[in-house]
Amino acid sequence: MELKNQNSGGGVQIKAVDEKNTKNVAVQTQVSNINREFQEKSTEKLAKDSGLNYVDIAKTPLNPDFLKIVDIAVAKNARVIPYYRQGKVLYLAVEDVKNANTIALLEDLKSKGYENIISLASKSGMDEAFEIYDQSQKYKKIEVVENVEKSSIGTYEKEIANMTDLAKKIETVTAQEALNMLDVGAMKTSASDVHYEPGEHSVVVRFRIDGVLHKVFALSHDVFHRIGEQLKYASKMRLNVVTIPQDGRYTFNFNEVKIAVRVSSIPTPFGESFVCRYLSSDNKTLGLEELGFQDEALAKLKRATQISQGMILITGPTGSGKSTTLYSVLQIMKSEENKVITLEDPVEYQMEGVVQSQIDEVKGYTFANGLRSILRQDPDIVMLGEIRDLKTAETAAQASLTGHVLLSTLHTNDAVETIPRLVNMGLKPFMVAPSLDTIVAQRLVRKVCEACATKKVTDEATLQEFKDHGVNGPAEIMEAHGCEKCSNTGYGGRLVVAEVLEVTKDIKEMILRGASSGEIFDAARKAGMKTMKEDAYTKVSQGLTTIEELHRVIGV
Ligand SMILES: [Zn+2]
Repeated sequence: MELKNQNSGGGVQIKAVDEKNTKNVAVQTQVSNINREFQEKSTEKLAKDSGLNYVDIAKTPLNPDFLKIVDIAVAKNARVIPYYRQGKVLYLAVEDVKNANTIALLEDLKSKGYENIISLASKSGMDEAFEIYDQSQKYKKIEVVENVEKSSIGTYEKEIANMTDLAKKIETVTAQEALNMLDVGAMKTSASDVHYEPGEHSVVVRFRIDGVLHKVFALSHDVFHRIGEQLKYASKMRLNVVTIPQDGRYTFNFNEVKIAVRVSSIPTPFGESFVCRYLSSDNKTLGLEELGFQDEALAKLKRATQISQGMILITGPTGSGKSTTLYSVLQIMKSEENKVITLEDPVEYQMEGVVQSQIDEVKGYTFANGLRSILRQDPDIVMLGEIRDLKTAETAAQASLTGHVLLSTLHTNDAVETIPRLVNMGLKPFMVAPSLDTIVAQRLVRKVCEACATKKVTDEATLQEFKDHGVNGPAEIMEAHGCEKCSNTGYGGRLVVAEVLEVTKDIKEMILRGASSGEIFDAARKAGMKTMKEDAYTKVSQGLTTIEELHRVIGV
């Protein structure tokens, strides 16, 4: 019987054969095992005789990452497997120390500063180890990359509850597994971004959770290098390019939701810095109440969703949740009887029943040009990502004066300030006054984590602060701590704090006669407008957030 070649990958082959042949395979496996044992015994003896160490390489757990020190094709050709590493000390399984390719590779490793510790391994053992490696790569491509959730969430859940453990774990697993763990970690903590920031001694990993960056852990440059390579590989960046910024993306599934990761890199003196943005395709728009609109602000915004023409503007700085509110308003306004077209940069949520288009500055499809094209498509409602210049503002105002509802955003600090901003842009007051219907100014505050927050007695100074802002200070306010549930941040989820200015007939007249912001503000107050600060203090008194969070977002 020819025994020589039947043994390679014995254990792996069994699965591939169908049940009818089980008996046959069992016999083959038995033969293979006998042959393997025989080979291992004789290799062990040979090693002893030549004064070398011996390793049963097929039974030695090897980290595929060690094969990154040596290219897999080179390793196969040289019949060498690096199976363990301790700093620069490399443990290698070698089939034949006299093989010219083997000698060349060992010399090459030496020249790279590695200290080679060689053990003799059998031919069948080497074959099987390479086979296991190939299989593990195939398995990963199918199972792990395509479906992180099913294959790994159970395994990683524990580590991810504790980020320190995750950092340790990352040091020992393959780069691909490490990246998967970081992805799952980002999902579990509801992080929107993961930042990798190389410094002189280590690489700091920070997660942006509810808009705030948190240092999660630091990685050694060695470990980060492998993860960086994996990131670039996954997001189809050029691996050999390290001195210019690059962009890429990759996707994975998490709890049956497809997550797209936008990766960008920039070179720094200590290596490439990466930022990964996690974009979920699961875009449930929230109701206005769920977003955090209350009382008078809610009532005014709800009224605005009933209009048939005019401009609704949502204002605030970057990251104040403007788009989210815009989509929620649009969700309420859209119906089968009206046509909704959007012009966005970029399209952030996919909305059913809405024609969404994306601006392309390079091709001249700008907000201003795009808006003109859109108006020829006979829309009832137009959502414009942002008003950035006079041309766009003019076209938008024109549209809202000719029977369209126009929704857009603007970077201003408060609702009233939006009016002089538009005028300063160059929009004539006789255009501003009739076109404006409602202006929302907003910020996002983090909700205090219900699982770990405690109550504390409100001190005198804080009570005075409430009073100064026209809100009755409560006897007790919430204090944030941190637990496993909130990834130790003390907070979970976010809430809008807002002011809603209804541009009434009186205010329109004031705009026309060039009234100051102060006068307009007073008129709005008389008409019952609650300010963003009042809304924020109210939400602290309701125990939804903390005074510290209010100070962080709104200022003292
Ligand atoms: Zn908590």
